[in-house]
Amino acid sequence: MKELIKQAAEDLAAARNVVALTGAGISIESGIPPFRGKGGLWERFDPMEIAHIDTLMRDPAKVWKILVKEMKEIVDRARPNDGHKGLAKLEARDKLQTIITQNIDGLHQAAGNTDVIEFHGTFAWQRCMDCNKKYETRKVDISEIPPRCECGGILRPDAVFFGEIIPPEAMRRSRQAATDCDLMLVIGTSAVVQPAAMIPVIAKDNGAKIVEINPERTPLTDQISDYLIMGKAGEVMNRIVSDLQKII
Ligand code: NAD
Ligand code: ZN
Repeated sequence: MKELIKQAAEDLAAARNVVALTGAGISIESGIPPFRGKGGLWERFDPMEIAHIDTLMRDPAKVWKILVKEMKEIVDRARPNDGHKGLAKLEARDKLQTIITQNIDGLHQAAGNTDVIEFHGTFAWQRCMDCNKKYETRKVDISEIPPRCECGGILRPDAVFFGEIIPPEAMRRSRQAATDCDLMLVIGTSAVVQPAAMIPVIAKDNGAKIVEINPERTPLTDQISDYLIMGKAGEVMNRIVSDLQKII
């Protein structure tokens, strides 16, 4: 691993336009469980069912009870970890342009990154299913489930559920960022949720080097990634940033 960390620091030092694609794995060390990983909430139900737009439309109270309420409690408490902080340090050193994140937890912005494309929307806001008025999630009163808008409509997270399209502006900007970059860091994503999993493929097609950071192999590992640094996002980012500081 030591050699690959050094390689990543050298590749970052040489790159002109770096983009990171992140998934639920980068937030695990902040206490937010992934959908597919082991542990907690997600083993008790099928995310493809409970986080599906059809379930939300049919039975919003059920989705609030099982998914949104618990997610709100977890996300309210979560703080950026060394993985998020490492990416903020890269931006501060002008070594990271844009983060495309599949996460809805807002932790990249909390760490200090300024250009974050929220590919799957955000959990920081709720919106009315009738009139689209938005409410800050942390200010929403959840003593009654599901919470309602002043118009009487039901509130839902301003995030993308399975079965919904990616917000067009996020899709357009992500495609552009993937096309323009010469190095993409792919951190903590199992690369099975589409169309997010296509982003590193677009980057590769346009000549970018792809560096994966994940404790597990993924479908990208053999076909798309130049190399995989097998480890946790926090530890790996700390070591890369520390090696990079010796070079630039
Ligand atoms: P995912 O598909 O991104 O899979 C998680 C990945 O993280 C796996 O490949 C796993 O090997 C890796 N991983 C585990 N521990 C890690 C660590 N310490 N450091 C780096 N990588 C690690 O995510 P998912 O859980 O299958 O979720 C799919 C979608 O659900 C996401 O794209 C997102 O929209 C949503 N989601 C978001 C959050 C969040 O906002 N934090 C949490 C759960 C799910
Ligand atoms: Zn309303």
